[in-house]
Amino acid sequence: MSNRPIVLLLTNMDDSGLRLVREAADVRMVDPKDRAAVEAGAKDADAIITRTAGKIDVEVLDWAPKLRVIGRHGVGVDHIDVPAATARGIQVLSTPGANTQDVVEHVVAMMIGLSKHFQILIPELKAGNYAARTSMRGREIQGRTLGIIGFGRIGKRLGETCRLGFGMRVLYHDVVEAPEEAALRAGAVRVGFEELLHQADYVSLHVPLDESTRGMIDRVALANIKKGCVLVNTSRGPVVDEEAVADALDAGLLWGYGADVFEVEPPPPDHPLIGRRDVLATPHSAAQTEEGLRNMATMVARDVLDVLAGRQPANPVNDPIEVERIRAESGKAPLYH
Ligand code: NAD
Repeated sequence: MSNRPIVLLLTNMDDSGLRLVREAADVRMVDPKDRAAVEAGAKDADAIITRTAGKIDVEVLDWAPKLRVIGRHGVGVDHIDVPAATARGIQVLSTPGANTQDVVEHVVAMMIGLSKHFQILIPELKAGNYAARTSMRGREIQGRTLGIIGFGRIGKRLGETCRLGFGMRVLYHDVVEAPEEAALRAGAVRVGFEELLHQADYVSLHVPLDESTRGMIDRVALANIKKGCVLVNTSRGPVVDEEAVADALDAGLLWGYGADVFEVEPPPPDHPLIGRRDVLATPHSAAQTEEGLRNMATMVARDVLDVLAGRQPANPVNDPIEVERIRAESGKAPLYH
């Protein structure tokens, strides 16, 4: 029997990362929707690498008594029960920054696409309606106000891009004040949540999904939003109340809605927003670029292999010292040299 560690993959990943994992470990890949296969694969797994579709709840943790590390291929750990993993002395890590540029470019594409009605004009052209070109008026994003909710890695880079590339005025709302230098680069001014909604022509969401952000863009928030605003959500579906967004579109409050994420993924066929003329929607594909996929795969592979080799990860989600303390208390072998 091989004494190489076993890595359970709940996702396919770019060859660059897969090759790294295969060099140092035995790999099993299963479909995360097949719970029986996940249970069988988790039984002797030392590590799990997962993506948005691969939920890691207490049940999965209970199936995996040997588990030492969970690697999140991507950013956002709302589908992983991190406190339960910590309580079992399991290291969780992710790939912050690996897809920042990809999400920024996706948001800009949505802002411009909605401003120029791409979601309407492309199907009209395909249907032979060339005259559609004069049927609608678009607008420039230049000089307008962008409101960024969640001024972290993605929010900051979006602010800089829109300020430098399009001369936009940038406002941000965050629970944390950005370092002066970062705010200066984007020319960004910190304002309260309501003020941002009152002033911004474009609102883009970049908060993680947690109890403080779930339903943040609800009916009350939408009642406060500037008329004609474009709202873009590439963060997580449940950050907005989708029915309230549909009603705000019906009421003509919003110019349009851009969505890469949905309350339930995959969204049902009768989803109230998909297919509307004022909605530009993509299937959680913002990070699906050659560069993003390569970055996520190599970052998660290196960090998971580091933990398996007794080295602290570069991008921990839970604190390695806390994880080690819990392992010592519960009589588990230490993770780190
Ligand atoms: P980040 O941690 O660098 O930034 C998040 C920011 O949100 C932080 O500055 C934080 O202080 C702020 N924040 C947290 N709670 C808040 C609250 N209640 N109110 C206001 N601000 C709050 O994360 P990031 O790398 O910029 O990514 C942001 C999110 O984007 C991720 O958590 C993930 O859910 C999502 N994401 C989506 C895709 C995609 O494919 N669509 C890809 C990458 C990331």
